[in-house]
Amino acid sequence: MRDRLFKYASCATPVALLAGKVRFDCDTTQTRFGPGDFWLRSGPVSRTGPLRIRNVSLWQKRVTLYALYADGAIVAATIDDHATTAHLALGAILEQPLAGRPAPLVRLLWHIEGSANLRAILREPRIATPSESERFDLEMSALYSAFAGLCIALLCYNFALWVALRHPFQLAYCAMVVALLLYAFSTSGALAWAWPNIANTDRIRVNYLTLGLSSVAAFVFARAFFEPRVFAGWTGRIAAAASATLLAATLGYVLFAPYDVRTFDTVYCWAFVGQMAVISPILWRAWATRSNYLWLFAVAWAAPIVLACLRIANAINLIGSSFWLDNSTILSMSVEALLSSLAIAYRMRLLSAERDEAREGEIAARLLADTDPLTGLLNRRAFLHQAIGRDGEHILMIADLDHFKRVNETIGHDGGDEVLRVFARTLRQAVPPGALVARIGGEEFAIVTPSAFAVEPGEILARLRAGRMPYDVAVTASIGTCSGPLLRETDWKALYACADRALFDAKSAGRDRARGRALPDRLAA
Ligand code: GH3
Ligand code: MG
Ligand code: MG
Repeated sequence: MRDRLFKYASCATPVALLAGKVRFDCDTTQTRFGPGDFWLRSGPVSRTGPLRIRNVSLWQKRVTLYALYADGAIVAATIDDHATTAHLALGAILEQPLAGRPAPLVRLLWHIEGSANLRAILREPRIATPSESERFDLEMSALYSAFAGLCIALLCYNFALWVALRHPFQLAYCAMVVALLLYAFSTSGALAWAWPNIANTDRIRVNYLTLGLSSVAAFVFARAFFEPRVFAGWTGRIAAAASATLLAATLGYVLFAPYDVRTFDTVYCWAFVGQMAVISPILWRAWATRSNYLWLFAVAWAAPIVLACLRIANAINLIGSSFWLDNSTILSMSVEALLSSLAIAYRMRLLSAERDEAREGEIAARLLADTDPLTGLLNRRAFLHQAIGRDGEHILMIADLDHFKRVNETIGHDGGDEVLRVFARTLRQAVPPGALVARIGGEEFAIVTPSAFAVEPGEILARLRAGRMPYDVAVTASIGTCSGPLLRETDWKALYACADRALFDAKSAGRDRARGRALPDRLAA
């Protein structure tokens, strides 16, 4: 259907206009006419049955639609700014039904009053059958509900992640998603269903508000998403200035558009141009400072940024409009939302790698703190920590190298160290799994095992005798053993004193042997 356009003439009547008695200007671009009242006429059509006349709803006061039928009848219906709300279909399409008549519909004429004519007087007029209209509504509802579903899912898991990880970019992302949801709510026309009494121009103002807020929130998100160095200095300042300007322009439009919609729309569009203009320096800075997140951001945001630029180019009348361009915010943000899921998964991967590294570091630090550096056995502190509090009867063995001073004198201190290492290894190999083996003094070692799995001290001594020592030096040890409970610190003290006395017995009896003792209170019993 080709639009026939005629600038308002007071002498014109619908009958004369429909009869083709007045010339229409079909060559001038609509926006050239500026704001005002207009007549628009369709080309000839021939349609029967119930029909719906659809066009994109715009900023205007009133529209009267005249339908001319082949029998000469003219049916007219007027819709003002408030009544538009009741006629909005999904996608903010103004839909006017025409009842079926026996004669076919041959021409349409619109009288549009108070048109702001920002981007068109009448945009994308279509004649649709009820089923075509329903199919279109179904497609739009699939688009919007997919977008809303994605947004809600992103909102939930970003918020949950923020609760767990406290990364500010997740909160900024949530704010942006909420603004986008509200934008989808107003741009789809669903807002008009929720508030049927709202004027369509008020809905458009809400639409501008939510789009402006979404864009500012996207910048806040980018600021929190990148490393602080990307927004340090002048890039941070121009980004803040661009966002503040857009915020001010948005508020200006919301509050004052009814007084001068063209001026405030222009200011709003140019504020968007300003905001888009600062994206390049920010991306350049991210590249120059080798941001880890640049490629991710570029992949996720390429489509929204390019489409936002195209939309702005359309808004300032540099390029023409199309249905898909009108809905590009929803489409590109759907792409962004999907890719954001990947971006968040990637950040999670980085975070879990960091966490694993920290955990490994903590384990290593704990091992270091618990281990005797020379022999790799438990040190005294860790040994006591693990030994005291054990349930049931245990055997404590204290093994002390014989005449170690002499060993040191014979093969030197380093040689002595090596002997200590070999002795530690011998002990580790001799004890059953689960036994505690520690170096509790210079050349003094302790072994704790449950009485039921006790190791034979004679076997340790035999292994020591059989083993090869550095410089083939002969090394023997003496062992004192004692068994008893280890539940409390006092138990440990009693057990240690008892095993120490047994060790003294072994030393006194000539060394290279083991001796056992019983706890004194058990002796008395
Ligand atoms: P005894 O048979 O009575 O136990 O005689 P001993 O010489 O082994 O006993 P004493 O307690 O008199 O001497 C222990 C020696 O162990 C003294 C010290 O120089 C040596 N020693 C202690 N810690 C280390 C160490 O880490 N490395 C080396 N090489 N020697 C050590
Ligand atoms: Mg000794
Ligand atoms: Mg000693």
